[in-house]
Amino acid sequence: MSSRPTPQPGILDIAAYVPGKSGAPGSNAIKLSSNESPLGASPKAIEAFASVAQHLEIYPEGTSRILRLALGEVHGIDPDLIVCGNGSDDLLHLLAQCYLGEGDEAVMSRYGFSVYPIVTKAAGAGIVMVDEADYTADVDALLAAVTDKTRLVFLANPNNPTGTYLSDAEVRRLHAGLRPDILLVIDSAYAEYVTAADYSAGLELVAEAENVVMVRTFSKMGLAAARIGWMVGPAHLVDVINRIRGPFNVNLAAQLAGAAAARDVAFTAELKRHNARWRDWLTAELSSNRLRILPSQANFVLVLFASEAEAETAFEALMARGLIVRQVGSSYGIANGLRISIGTEAAMRRVVEVLKP
Ligand SMILES: *Cc1c(COP(=O)(O)O)cnc(C)c1O
Repeated sequence: MSSRPTPQPGILDIAAYVPGKSGAPGSNAIKLSSNESPLGASPKAIEAFASVAQHLEIYPEGTSRILRLALGEVHGIDPDLIVCGNGSDDLLHLLAQCYLGEGDEAVMSRYGFSVYPIVTKAAGAGIVMVDEADYTADVDALLAAVTDKTRLVFLANPNNPTGTYLSDAEVRRLHAGLRPDILLVIDSAYAEYVTAADYSAGLELVAEAENVVMVRTFSKMGLAAARIGWMVGPAHLVDVINRIRGPFNVNLAAQLAGAAAARDVAFTAELKRHNARWRDWLTAELSSNRLRILPSQANFVLVLFASEAEAETAFEALMARGLIVRQVGSSYGIANGLRISIGTEAAMRRVVEVLKP
């Protein structure tokens, strides 16, 4: 008998998620460490969020109906196949809790999103980490890692922190190689920013298959503070998740703000345009024989330096100029890399001033 309550096996092996650094309160440092929107939120979403303040005593509608209807309308999805969450983190935890347990394995990419190992261990399952091909998920290697114990495969597309992506054809090849009892979780957190013509966020595959779920978020589109995630899956999976999710897991302000943001397609388009322009510019300006910028489809770029020491020096130089970026050594094992969110024009010009040789 233990002298105090002990958590389930696996929990103490988890290193807590490390968020991007923020500036000291009141500092005018520019935060480029969490892939937040440089253009704020949709004004319509802000207005909707504020409208809730007069009625804080009322429980929200529990299924996020308003938000699911808006998403259904904008994306052409049956709202009954959508589940909303308190950020997509909430949904990733629920998926792992429902489909993974002791003795099971989840397959994921080496430089995939750092929440996947956390939710896998929290569910008591084992992690199978698969090497990438030049910082890109490797479909053949992922398929080769599948065993009898595999129950779930996580794929961020595009991926954080690399910004690289798999084409629709590659995702379909991955899906086609999986047993039907293995759940493929496609995390399309950055779908709104993708400009590649051969990309799909995964919606068609979800509609065609019984073992695919697509997870999305509003966090990278200007609403990170509101915590709004959503997912689309087959009816049997939606039923499972709805049995255990928090009965009021998305607060009313978030539901209304999310619905307004989803319908504000002009704002989404403006963010995408701004991002593509400065992502291309930053990539072109920084690329040199000293720096490698991975081709990104997201709202950040991963800059690879010749060494860990050079990355550290650059991080400090950026900090000294009030630019906070993301180190990806301890949480992602890319010690010579810095992840830089696409910010305002002024922020991007300042980054280049600091980093350009
Ligand atoms: C930021 C991010 C999310 C998390 O989003 P929240 O909705 O804020 O929880 C999920 N997946 C990936 C790949 C991300 O980069």
